[in-house]
Amino acid sequence: MIWIGVGAVAVAIGLAYWLFMSPSSQVFGRYPYRGDGRDRVVALTFDDGPNEPYTSQIADHLAGKGIRATFFQVGACVERHPETTARLLADGHVIGNHSLTHRFHSYLVPGRMAGEVVRTQEILSQRLGRTPALYRSPWLWRQPALLRRLRRSALQPVSGQFCHPFEVFQPDGARIARRAIAHTRPGSIIIFHDGFDARGGDRSQTVRAVELVTDELARRGYRFVTVDELLGVPAYR
Ligand SMILES: [Zn+2]
Repeated sequence: MIWIGVGAVAVAIGLAYWLFMSPSSQVFGRYPYRGDGRDRVVALTFDDGPNEPYTSQIADHLAGKGIRATFFQVGACVERHPETTARLLADGHVIGNHSLTHRFHSYLVPGRMAGEVVRTQEILSQRLGRTPALYRSPWLWRQPALLRRLRRSALQPVSGQFCHPFEVFQPDGARIARRAIAHTRPGSIIIFHDGFDARGGDRSQTVRAVELVTDELARRGYRFVTVDELLGVPAYR
């Protein structure tokens, strides 16, 4: 009897994860996780920054290769490193909204959830001189109230595929890269983390992985585009 109960709980958890957090779930509305795959292009995306010195190291590498990417930034981190966000914009990267505090419980309280979206829009508008039109929720969380909130703010939610399931724990950069490359297809949106949560932390293995991934994908004939280009949507309002 107990095992039936445990099994039911496991199934319920799996279903909840798939509905609310899986990269590809579209149950509550359009939440694109890849392009149409017609062209040999890939969009590199970076979450949870800015986080120094890692965000700038990634930016230096991308600048050296002439690659533009999309950075989903946390409002509180932008306030900590506004010069980094400004530099990314000046380098031609696209900046999207990735919440204000990156706290999970904020997404369970409707009033706070709206604040996570709206306050970050204000911070980014002020820093960038333009208002983002792309949004990625922490943990790719989605439910109907959040998607309604995003529509009201004219924000396009964007999912993607994680470069490596354990990237947050910083396994060797070469391992992260191997997994990311193996799962890349034309139209892929790859998720890296230049930060961790809203707290920063060592991302040196991610920096290494990005160097390896960009070199190998370029060798395989991939072109790097920003998410708005890949999906054919505006980057800013
Ligand atoms: Zn995140």
